[in-house]
Amino acid sequence: MNIYTLIMLFFIIAVYLVETAANLLNVKNISNNIPPEFDGYFDREKYSKAQEYLKANTKLSVISSTFFLTAQIIFIVLKGFNYVNTIAVSFSFGTILTGLVFAGIVFSAFEILKIPFSVYSVFIIEENFGFNKMNVKTFISDLLKSWIITAIIGAVIFAAILWLFANVYRYAWLYAFAAIVIFELFITFIAPVTIMPLFNKYTSLEDGELKNSIEEYAKKENFKMKGLFKMDGSKRSTKSNAFFTGFGKFRRIVLFDTLIQKHTVDGLTSILAHEMGHFKLGHIVKHIIFSSALSGIMLFIFSLLIDKAWLYDAFFMRTQDIYAGIIFFSFLYAPVSLIISPILSYFSRKHEYEADLYSITTYRKPQAMINALKKLSVDNMSNLYPHKFKVFLEYSHPPVLERIKAINRIKLG
Ligand SMILES: [Zn+2]
Repeated sequence: MNIYTLIMLFFIIAVYLVETAANLLNVKNISNNIPPEFDGYFDREKYSKAQEYLKANTKLSVISSTFFLTAQIIFIVLKGFNYVNTIAVSFSFGTILTGLVFAGIVFSAFEILKIPFSVYSVFIIEENFGFNKMNVKTFISDLLKSWIITAIIGAVIFAAILWLFANVYRYAWLYAFAAIVIFELFITFIAPVTIMPLFNKYTSLEDGELKNSIEEYAKKENFKMKGLFKMDGSKRSTKSNAFFTGFGKFRRIVLFDTLIQKHTVDGLTSILAHEMGHFKLGHIVKHIIFSSALSGIMLFIFSLLIDKAWLYDAFFMRTQDIYAGIIFFSFLYAPVSLIISPILSYFSRKHEYEADLYSITTYRKPQAMINALKKLSVDNMSNLYPHKFKVFLEYSHPPVLERIKAINRIKLG
């Protein structure tokens, strides 16, 4: 074993330890006291059920990450990548096709190993806690559809990057960057009308009190909507959500049918005002710019490392093939992402506070918003007392009690 392998394994293990520590601290932080804000929302029984739910999910996540860590280490140390490459090369295809076979084998193996964990998550945990509405048929068809979509999108991007790095020597990363940004924008525009309907049914929100309330608010705020949709989230889970997607012609607001069933018109309009806030405050554009910049930086670093022998030595590869380099580079990305993801999460939480503020100052119904947030937390069995370290590492939304406190501090003139 060479020093590069050891350094790389050290990083993989370090990431695992940090994430596992956050998970364990999070479970230790559970409190038996129902916060006074939730009086009348959580009864003792439901509250302890929510804590059991957190424990069950944490246990599964620790078991699965331990399994994948072990599998990765064994695969790397037994020179698995070099073995997969001998299979890929044996077809005598050109570089791009060989690369697609190589990546295809690696990713298929990973996807197949993931299946038992998602089966357990959906049919044991979600089922036992009364969330699951999915039957085996939906589960399998979801899996197949997402595989086909990922395979098509992944193959196109992977082939494009391979082609650029093999044919445009100078500034290949810059061309690859441009290609990825164009592709990302394309997907953002068309996903709501092409990909998402493959998984769920979207129907226009029917006329009535709710639609009137939302349209009236949107008109007052000069917000042009291209569509207000109801999604059949109840097909998979009793959990609820609302989101905003697409741009321009494809811009649409989507409410889960499960959300509509459980909330008041004022509560739902507050939630939508929050979603519109994300748009009005430029959060969505900021997010696209930031993640594009990130892919640009990654591709640039990749272009510097691609021909370094140590990258291939670390994974016991006998040849230096760019397609394998891309996969190895993604391993180096794990420790980098441990640093980047808290930064992204920090900004995401900041945006959540801003969108709440937007909702309260424009729709002006703080109590309706607070009640909706409480109801959402109870219905989705959210953890009311997440550990600070867990929040720091990966929480895209602030813990609900802090959101409520922040809303209570807003002064309406
Ligand atoms: Zn939000």
